[in-house]
Amino acid sequence: MERPAIAGGKPVRDTKLFYGHQYIDDADVKAVTDVLVSDYLTCGPKVTELEERLCKLTGAKYAVACSNGTAALHIAAMAAGVTEGDELITTPITFAASANCALYCGAKPVFADINPKTYNIDPDCVESKLTDKTKAVVAVDFTGQAAELKPLLEMCHEHGIVLIEDAAHSIGTQYDGKFVGSIADMTTFSFHPVKTVTGGEGGAVLTNSEELYRKLVLYRAHGITREADLLENPSHGGWYYEQIDLGYNYRMTDIQCALVISQLDKLEMFKKRRCEIVARYNEAFSKLPELFVQEEILESDTVRHLYILRIKPELLTIDRKGFFEALAAENICCNVHYIPVYWHPHYQRLGYEKGLCPNAEKLYEEMMSLPLYYSMTDKDVEDVIAAVEKLVAYYRK
Ligand SMILES: *Cc1c(COP(=O)(O)O)cnc(C)c1O
Repeated sequence: MERPAIAGGKPVRDTKLFYGHQYIDDADVKAVTDVLVSDYLTCGPKVTELEERLCKLTGAKYAVACSNGTAALHIAAMAAGVTEGDELITTPITFAASANCALYCGAKPVFADINPKTYNIDPDCVESKLTDKTKAVVAVDFTGQAAELKPLLEMCHEHGIVLIEDAAHSIGTQYDGKFVGSIADMTTFSFHPVKTVTGGEGGAVLTNSEELYRKLVLYRAHGITREADLLENPSHGGWYYEQIDLGYNYRMTDIQCALVISQLDKLEMFKKRRCEIVARYNEAFSKLPELFVQEEILESDTVRHLYILRIKPELLTIDRKGFFEALAAENICCNVHYIPVYWHPHYQRLGYEKGLCPNAEKLYEEMMSLPLYYSMTDKDVEDVIAAVEKLVAYYRK
């Protein structure tokens, strides 16, 4: 049996393979440098162009570009009317921003457990957490797979609650034949470099509601408006604007928007490659009873952002930490997405207790994210598989 590098053997490869990496080509570079020598670095035509492009891609009526995915969630929660005393239900298996948006609004994040097979929020758990204070649900398309949007939307609308879909992982994913962005009351994207499409930083909120759209535009820019029908006093002249609410500076620059537009030209190409890698991983790992392969709901045609390797520790002599470190010694650098949000000290101090969402906590103890990105070569993919197979064979009980 081959000895793992961590136990003194030879690593499967000599150079480190990282878990994620952006892909930037000459067209992206040109798109950015064209903006740099244009008249507008921010508040210019590239912002509108990106917003139109996102509507065209997803079928949503309105898009509001903003500075990052976190800002997108914040203004979405504000537009949903989330405020002091309210509750917002979300999953613990997400980046903290999905829950922090409630705290920004003075509301309380409430965590509903995940489905242990798909890892997305379980609509039945959401239902069990509903109270008369619930104002919104933030459903995360974890790894790129769409959340169970139909039952979630039905439940939310029955109770007069707003469904916000955190689609930071899932641009390009379709649910029931419709693109993510056109389905929930509001959908948020992130263009951070680890995501499928990047602007360096950037984000957007998509909606079909004109009312929500107008609020989002206001909250993105200080609560300031020039719209005649929103002004509360007579205009003083052509320069006049009013701050009619409290908003933020959550604008995205034209530089970032141009990069995202150029990246969107490659979304199909990104999707194809990511799907190939996922198929190859699934094929290899489904043969190993020591591993659990993430299940997909039929409705989701997924552009996968993350690939979760989940071990069954009861069948191995090492745990997740051991497996993660052994992979690193093979020069396969993983990450873990995510530490349950309410385990973080800030949330612990707010009074959340461990044990709240058992499925999420069990998943956290057993998972790691394998390298998955467009520019991985076939050799890179096979190195990852070889390393995982080698470790499973060596540490099998
Ligand atoms: C990345 C991410 C965010 C935040 O996006 P930023 O652009 O980094 O602010 C929010 N939710 C999820 C699920 C994410 O993965």
